[in-house]
Amino acid sequence: MILNLRELLSKGHVVTFQEHFDMQSVFEDCHEFRLSQAVDVDITASHQTGTVWVTGTMTAPLLLQCSKCLKHFEQTMQFSVKEGFTQDTEIVRKNEELHFIAEDRIDFVPYLRDIVIVNLPLASVCHKDCQGLCSECGVDRNLMKCECVQQLINPRMEALKNFFET
Ligand SMILES: [Zn+2]
Ligand SMILES: [Zn+2]
Repeated sequence: MILNLRELLSKGHVVTFQEHFDMQSVFEDCHEFRLSQAVDVDITASHQTGTVWVTGTMTAPLLLQCSKCLKHFEQTMQFSVKEGFTQDTEIVRKNEELHFIAEDRIDFVPYLRDIVIVNLPLASVCHKDCQGLCSECGVDRNLMKCECVQQLINPRMEALKNFFET
């Protein structure tokens, strides 16, 4: 996915990309998730006073691992895309959010990669009511009940403990 920055800046073109493409290899070294299918990218690049803004969305079907029961599950996430590029050092000095690009062409794929990695949930859960694994015997408590006694924390004691720790 290559954007011609020079052309966008000089001719004021508006370019739209609607692509369904495979990013599996881009995320090969990420252990938090896999992509179960190709991603959908729907972005528009447009020029605005020395800056090219690329905005839109990316929809990615992720294969995640539940942090509670360790099961793999699929979740499609939508990420919003908003990246600004400029070839002008003066503009980038005033707005540090912008990316300074000396070349005329931008490969947009690494930016898409970063958007996914930065916005991934810290702890993925397969279901909001996931019971997780029993900390004593290890059974998946979504599938089976066990006789283990779960240690319950007395909320009053917990409050006292926090009080002394702060
Ligand atoms: Zn789970
Ligand atoms: Zn158990």
